[in-house]
Amino acid sequence: MSISNSILKSLNMEDKNINFNENFVENRKIKGKKVLVYRGYLKNDYEYCPECGCINEKTIVKNGRKTTLIKIPKISEITSYLELEKQRYKCKNCNKRFTAKTNIVDYRCRISNNTKHSVVNYVKDILSNLYIAKHHNISNMTVQRIIDKIYDNKKLYKHYLPEAICIDEFTALKRTMAFNVCDAKTGKTIDLVLDRTKGNLEKYFSYYLEDARLKVKYVVMDMYKPYIGLIKKMFPKALIIIDMFHIVQLISRSLNKTRIKIMKKDKTNYRKYKRYWRLFFKPRLELDSSYWRKYICFKNLMTEVDIVNYLLEQNEELKATYNLYQSILYSLQRKDYKLFEDIINKEYPNISEYMLTSLNTLKEFSSHIKNTLELPYSNGVMERNNNTCKLIKRIAFGYKNFNNFKAKILIVTNIFRKSKKVMNFTSSPLNV
Ligand SMILES: [Zn+2]
Repeated sequence: MSISNSILKSLNMEDKNINFNENFVENRKIKGKKVLVYRGYLKNDYEYCPECGCINEKTIVKNGRKTTLIKIPKISEITSYLELEKQRYKCKNCNKRFTAKTNIVDYRCRISNNTKHSVVNYVKDILSNLYIAKHHNISNMTVQRIIDKIYDNKKLYKHYLPEAICIDEFTALKRTMAFNVCDAKTGKTIDLVLDRTKGNLEKYFSYYLEDARLKVKYVVMDMYKPYIGLIKKMFPKALIIIDMFHIVQLISRSLNKTRIKIMKKDKTNYRKYKRYWRLFFKPRLELDSSYWRKYICFKNLMTEVDIVNYLLEQNEELKATYNLYQSILYSLQRKDYKLFEDIINKEYPNISEYMLTSLNTLKEFSSHIKNTLELPYSNGVMERNNNTCKLIKRIAFGYKNFNNFKAKILIVTNIFRKSKKVMNFTSSPLNV
């Protein structure tokens, strides 16, 4: 292999028209930075003139040279350039002048194609544009242009929606919520919508063909009432599944509010209510009843069960609320809808007003909670998806332009995500 070929190979470039002589690399200072400059010479052998098409019978002659400095990926972490001396030619037949061409860089572009490929590899990961730009010695705008190009090539397909979708929202821009739709099986983001008002979402979903919407069988969501009407209208054949996590969160919050209310009133047991709050949320069967140990707020040796029992005995309201919380949690863990229904339809005179509100909410959503307990879908993939979105936002120190933000999210969580990575969506996040 000739030297030129070896150098081209090490630079990951394929163009046999580029030649390197003996002193092909040197250190130089560009913009006050020490860089590595490779020097190459580019020439073409023309069989015919590219301008007029006449056959080259010594009619195309050399006509000076033109040097361009091309940015290439870093070599051993040193910013590198390729100084390419391009041969200029003149056709005697048509009198036109032209420059030798190469495939390592686009016409009138100073950034090599393999730099652009490297940028694409970096864009797939959760990295800020600024970092990618700095690493490749190119401008922020160039990175954004590459992102726009990738995103544009994969315009959303409006003829298809997956069988099961998750919907949720998160804070995208300053105080503005974005509506997020993702595939419940693969966790791939389908789309983000900035305005989550009902009218706008209706308009957005009607953009999908009716056939596609009719094929949606399951929609996983949190307990947000306005969406129910929307889903029934836009996806008439879909079953609504309330995410398990949000059901548990709802009743846990009411129990916690009750605990805090009682804690503030009861000065003698204040510290105990405050210190052992975690025990209230542990499923009752998982509380330890055999390990006696010393707890800071108690004089005698206690077990976890003793502590909970002691605190419950102090207040009737807390006791009733706690018992209801535990029964609902138990029915959810067992995935027993009948039990759940029996529990929520009973009367509970002593429970706190917070729990009463939650109970009414559960009653209202009970038909959808039935689906939660009987079907394997949960919003776990969506929570992961939302976390990725938040991380992207955090790393970029926020986005001003929603479209740029959306392009980046879709690249990371859809276009380049391997569909093999299916989340285990059968497990339900019962922990608070
Ligand atoms: Zn010509």
